[in-house]
Amino acid sequence: MDKAHNHQAEQIEGSALATAQAQFDRAVQYLNLDPGLADLLRWPRRELTVSFPVKMDDGSIRRFVGYRVHHNLARGPTKGGIRYHPSVTLDEVRALAMWMTWKCALVNIPYGGAKGGVVCDPHQLSLRELEGLTRRYATEIAVLMSPEGDIPAPDLGTNPQVMAWIMDTYSMHRGYSVPAVVTGKPINIGGSKGRNEATGRGVIFTTREALKLLGRPLAGATVVVQGFGNVGSIAALTAYELGCKVIAVSDVRGGIYNPKGLDIPAVMRHARETRSVVGFPGSDGLTNAELLALPCDVLIPAAMEHQITRHNAAAVQCKVLAEGANGPTTPEADEILLDKGVFIIPDILCNAGGVIVSYFEWVQGLQAFFWEEAEVTERMERFIVNAFHDVHREAQRLKIDMRTAAQVLAIGRVADAHMTRGLYP
Ligand code: NAD
Repeated sequence: MDKAHNHQAEQIEGSALATAQAQFDRAVQYLNLDPGLADLLRWPRRELTVSFPVKMDDGSIRRFVGYRVHHNLARGPTKGGIRYHPSVTLDEVRALAMWMTWKCALVNIPYGGAKGGVVCDPHQLSLRELEGLTRRYATEIAVLMSPEGDIPAPDLGTNPQVMAWIMDTYSMHRGYSVPAVVTGKPINIGGSKGRNEATGRGVIFTTREALKLLGRPLAGATVVVQGFGNVGSIAALTAYELGCKVIAVSDVRGGIYNPKGLDIPAVMRHARETRSVVGFPGSDGLTNAELLALPCDVLIPAAMEHQITRHNAAAVQCKVLAEGANGPTTPEADEILLDKGVFIIPDILCNAGGVIVSYFEWVQGLQAFFWEEAEVTERMERFIVNAFHDVHREAQRLKIDMRTAAQVLAIGRVADAHMTRGLYP
């Protein structure tokens, strides 16, 4: 592995955990928690690091490093995605696992939080290498994974096909099919209708509620989206379908801009064919930095952590910041945005549509009884809209910002579960 790259990643990702813990420390001030319990909730319950070989297409053997972290188990089995990205670190996975605990508690689904990751660039691997890596990683983390104990899902760099390989690998070791061990699967092997679209749709449902509070309709709002993967592309498409003007979108290679509004279904076709939004006919190119500073009603970061920092927060010109990605805003940037009067829909609320429908997929798998897409989406909308208003009420009651209010509610529920269960032994 490239040592310099890894060192740099360590520094960046170290701050993802710092961000998660800074948010936690801020929220805990509003809760009357036993200091020992607060300290417990600040750290993961268990962590697994694995180092494993994959046979590459050229015949060589390459070592990969992966992680699976369980943050908290008090409210039920742990739930959380698996990330394939070159900058994955243990600290990043810890932060993401912690956010999963709060997210599941916030939207009131009976799960704790987990996350996993493999340090790799999936775009540099052949399909066969990706399958080999996935099956071996799934075997390595199988000690932590089960339908009753820990249920992975897709995240950055992974998709339904990767989930299918994980489900198959786990099932091969059991000798029978275990669809409920993973969510975000293809529909033909027990996936839920509406799962793929759930996170992006949830982002727009919460955005609609935020705009309502500001006295503005969703239709006609100008929208900017950073990241055009699962979350970003579906958020852009849903916004487009509901009458918004999506004026700019981007991916890791750069962005495209059209002040009259982009034809999002056509951008999706272009991105599928060329593997990037860049070069979309009839649009101007712009950088990700320029995109984040565009004047708009709604800005949706849907790529990576720490995109909005103290260095660029002052330049952000949206009315609503809808956090599709996990941890896109640093605590310093939060202060700057709040001072500017930006309405922030925090990640653990805004992007919870995915885990809500993952929960539905798990329930459907365990019951072997499957729902129609409209039912899935309507139920998800109810869960996420209720959570939005719970958070808004808490923010008003305590006179605090939406992020802190979301954390106060979520941490309070997890702490409550611990107190009710009591301390073992
Ligand atoms: P994805 O891999 O499908 O897409 C990621 C997109 O971001 C791609 O378009 C990629 O090109 C772009 N990107 C990557 N690095 C970038 C950079 N530095 N600058 C600009 N663009 C960049 O991933 P995803 O599943 O859409 O996840 C995106 C974010 O949403 C992550 O933070 C993830 O944790 C979060 N999230 C995902 C889900 C889900 O259901 N998939 C649920 C909740 C939260």
